[in-house]
Formats: sequence, C-alpha cells, structure tokens
Amino acid sequence: MRTLIVSDIHGNLDALNAVLADAGDFEAAICLGDIVGYGAQPNECIATVRALPNLVCLAGNHDLGATGRIDAATFSAGAGRALAWTRHALRPDNADYLNQLDPSGDLAKIALAHASRRDPVWEYLETAQQAAANFGLFDQAVCLIGQTHVPRTFEADGARSETTRVAERIDYEQLDLFDGTRRIVNPGSVGQPRDGDPRAAYAVVDSRSGTYTPRRVPYDIGSAQEHILAVGLPSSLATRLALGM
Ligand code: ZN
Repeated sequence: MRTLIVSDIHGNLDALNAVLADAGDFEAAICLGDIVGYGAQPNECIATVRALPNLVCLAGNHDLGATGRIDAATFSAGAGRALAWTRHALRPDNADYLNQLDPSGDLAKIALAHASRRDPVWEYLETAQQAAANFGLFDQAVCLIGQTHVPRTFEADGARSETTRVAERIDYEQLDLFDGTRRIVNPGSVGQPRDGDPRAAYAVVDSRSGTYTPRRVPYDIGSAQEHILAVGLPSSLATRLALGM
C-alpha cells in the first residue's frame, strides 16, 4: 500500500495539485497539519485534502489559529494577517472540519505530530538535541512531523529507553522505515518550503516494503503568487514562495 505524506500545505492549491499529479496512485494519505495560513486558497485545499483516500489528518498551529482555538496574536505579523483573512474566508463546513482535528496522533507503526511529541503545536524541531528529548515520547519506530517546512530526518542509536546519540541524516534517496533504527522524519512543506528549494516537498511510504521516499516537485509559483496578491495578503508571502524561504 502506498501512503502519501503531506504537511504544511498553507492554502497553496497550485503546489498541492502538483504534488497529487506527481504522486500517482496511493491508497492512503497522512496530512501533518497546517492546511491553511499564508496562502490564498484555504477552502480549496481543505476540500482537496478531505477527499484523499483513507486520510489521517492533524491540526497545525495555523489550522488552530484560523478557527480561534489558539490566539492569532501569538503568530508573527505576516502570519497573523494571513490568519485573520483566512478566518473570514473559511466556509463554515471547512472551519468545522479543522475544528475536530488534533495536533498529534498514533498509528500502529508510526507516531504523528504537527510540531513534535513534546509540543505538538509549537516546537520547531531543528537540532539533534531537541530530537533526543522527543525520542522517549513515542513507542513506534517512526515519528512523522511537520512545522519547520524543512525536510529533515533524525536517527537514534538505541531503543526508546536508551537513546544515547541522535544524528541528523540528509540527502538520502530512500529510507527503510522499519529496519530497527528509530527515526523522527519531516517531509518538508508542500506550500511554503523554507530550505532554499522552492519546489513542493512531500513523501510516499510503501507499507509493504517499509520504504520512505522523499520527493520534490516544481509547480506554478507565479499562479500561487497571483492568488495571494489578488486577495490582498502581504506581498512578502508571495515573494518568499519563489525563494523557498
Ligand atoms: Zn506550517
């Protein structure tokens, strides 16, 4: 079974559609949160995500901010403006959908959190030291996270109770998720990558072989930028898409 892994779509329907076109057939999907915020097509993105097969979907901090579950004042100025716009733009049924999502979850073999297990809403898990503090907080071999918009994988060298060393692993073409190594894996962001590569990021897990394959796909950034400017959102939110920052 192929499972699509997406995170941090952020209202960018152009990027999401490019990911779906690139992914081919899949039987299940995991969305790690932040369907909305920053981008100009939150309703279209929620409708597209909701239609994915066998979907498991988390709430991200922006999803929680857009529905008032957390205070928009806790966000940066640009994010806050985008959230205020998103909150007005959201159709009631889509707001209801976001309202029933949680920022963390558990599958049999994979733990899920928008940001981290320690703080599912806000932590930016960027260092091996932070990862080490999180490896004891899930039982499964793998924890998938989003939030930083940067594809990153941390590997621990022991069982849950005896993690002594954590290493960051980058630039791999594939991982064997169930080879005995415990991992925290971030697929990166569909709609607003921040690693200097503006292409949409996502991943596919093959549950039969246990392989995790990261993917990058170009999309029509100009179209996403036009949507952002057309609804009056800050131009910086359009500019950054082209920079991948
Ligand atoms: Zn995000």
